[in-house]
Amino acid sequence: MRFLPQQKVYDVCIVGSGAGGGMAAWVLTQAGADVVLLEAGGPWDNATDSAMLTWNYESPRRGGGTRERQWGEFDGCIGGWDLDGEPFTRAPGTSFDWFRARMVGGRTNHWGRISLRFGPYDFRRKSIDGLGDDWPIAYDDLKPYYDRVDRLVGIFGSRENLPNEPDGIFLPPPKPRCYELLIKQAAERVGVPCIPSRLSIITRPHNDRPACHYCGQCNRGCRTNSNFSSTNVLIAPALETGKLALITNAMAREVTTDRAGLATGVTYVDKAAGADRHVRARVVVLAASALESARLLLNSRSTRFPQGLANSSGVVGRYITDTTGSGVTGFIPKMMDHVVHNEDGVGGAHLYMPWWLDNRKLDFPRGYHIEIGGGLHMPGAGFLGGIHRYPVGGGYGTTLKDAYRQLFGAYVYLDGRGEMIPNDDCYCEIDPSVVDRWGIPVLRFHWKWSDHEYRQAKHMQETFRAIIAEMGGQVFSPMPTAEQGYGLATGGRIIHELGGVRMGSDPKTSALDAWCQAHDVKNLFVADGAPFVTQADKNPTWTILALAWRTGERIAELRRKGEL
Ligand SMILES: Cc1cc2nc3c(=O)[nH]c(=O)nc-3n(C[C@H](O)[C@H](O)[C@H](O)COP(=O)(O)OP(=O)(O)OC[C@H]3O[C@@H](n4cnc5c(N)ncnc54)[C@H](O)[C@@H]3O)c2cc1C
Ligand code: SF4
Repeated sequence: MRFLPQQKVYDVCIVGSGAGGGMAAWVLTQAGADVVLLEAGGPWDNATDSAMLTWNYESPRRGGGTRERQWGEFDGCIGGWDLDGEPFTRAPGTSFDWFRARMVGGRTNHWGRISLRFGPYDFRRKSIDGLGDDWPIAYDDLKPYYDRVDRLVGIFGSRENLPNEPDGIFLPPPKPRCYELLIKQAAERVGVPCIPSRLSIITRPHNDRPACHYCGQCNRGCRTNSNFSSTNVLIAPALETGKLALITNAMAREVTTDRAGLATGVTYVDKAAGADRHVRARVVVLAASALESARLLLNSRSTRFPQGLANSSGVVGRYITDTTGSGVTGFIPKMMDHVVHNEDGVGGAHLYMPWWLDNRKLDFPRGYHIEIGGGLHMPGAGFLGGIHRYPVGGGYGTTLKDAYRQLFGAYVYLDGRGEMIPNDDCYCEIDPSVVDRWGIPVLRFHWKWSDHEYRQAKHMQETFRAIIAEMGGQVFSPMPTAEQGYGLATGGRIIHELGGVRMGSDPKTSALDAWCQAHDVKNLFVADGAPFVTQADKNPTWTILALAWRTGERIAELRRKGEL
């Protein structure tokens, strides 16, 4: 391939500016490294580009989604399930979806900010129940980094002393909303504990950022920078050090290597110019999101690395997982016509339910937590999900408007988010014949849930229906059957895809060591969700941030010692 030769050799080249890449860039620039960051998407700044204070009714679309703004036209995430010119394929019989962002900050411009630490058991599940694999590190290895992430980024929550839900360094949580209190009361009556959420939104001024003013619009990006996005909390200060060169619209193609088998840099497509370029660096850090990092390695083939880079074990692309998800929405008649009151708060629920049961007494391994929703959000397109389904819904003109007023805020939903166990049927590989618009071979997915996940989804459905019944509510959809997979979401759909370049102590069964450094290529690291060995019943991003911080610090230390 021909590309323009670059003279400058950076200390580190990072690919991707989401949670992992942003943290790696922040840590390494603070440590004084000269860093270049390649980001496939365009520039974005929440302080100026966010639509935080826009009413949905200001637009003829009423805030409805578009192909590029899946979650609404004012949403902060540019990307989607389906990117122009960037396909992926599925093996026959496979259902799998892949949500990608293309912008500075990646998916952290929209994400739900649910920021849960993995617990001590989550790193050693195989030792506990014999399934999957243990991590090569323990909770105590990561705890100091979780603490640092808490202090730097800011998170609210409450101290609960639960065995596998470690407390963090929390700012005060906001008070529960009315509907959240009703859910909590009903949940506790059926034996499910409900506690304050743990979200990376600052409820007090923190590190020169103002406290949240409770506009509830986090998914649009925060103009006051009161929630976490990689864009404004990590990349912006990294740029201020003067040590970071951020190259946007730069789609990495492959990692280049020299005769000794060391990484020398990354080739990328300059999307604006339509030209291939190469950036040189002493260390390469992949953080393009778990599956895209696996793709980059699989595409970095050479005579020396015929199976792709860092893949002598053959595990790159394997052991991929997503969070399990199944949900129930309920209409709560006693919440109709309620006294109008202010339910403003953070852009997310103020309460949640961590896993509370003992799997030894259940017919499935591993747990799930419950995310809740409902209340008086800003109405927009698709509001109430079809008013004709409600007893007083439908009609025209004044009757319809009255029905909307009556029903506003009279529904709740409960969503399970659980742990999947990696299995041999879930993996990605390079499609032998399909390439993207730049000629880069694309991923082909294979996916099959096991009975563990289906049984867990059944338990979610039964539990959520019991809570809604306890609230005196009505569920419109019947209990999904075994044939319907108990409502288990399609793989990838929960957007917590992890693994694909897993870490481990044994180079025969893992691609990275306990520091996320490639066993085969000592100056190559991975800093997103790809190194994860298991999923846990927690959302992954707080662990991606902690792990990326640890990896960045390790690189800085090895460079100081002259070992990189
Ligand atoms: C709707 C939604 C809600 C979510 N809610 C939560 C939540 O509440 N809690 C939680 O923990 N997680 C949540 N997540 C998941 C969270 O967003 C991800 O875990 C996190 O962003 C992953 O970080 P990352 O750095 O691995 O990847 P990303 O944030 O996806 O960033 C990857 C970046 O790499 C760039 N890139 C990709 N390929 C290339 C290439 N070849 N060359 C150059 N650049 C490239 C992309 O453009 C992107 O900017 C949510 C996600 C979504 C979409
Ligand atoms: S709810 Fe708070 S953190 Fe979220 S966008 Fe509004 S002010 Fe920012």
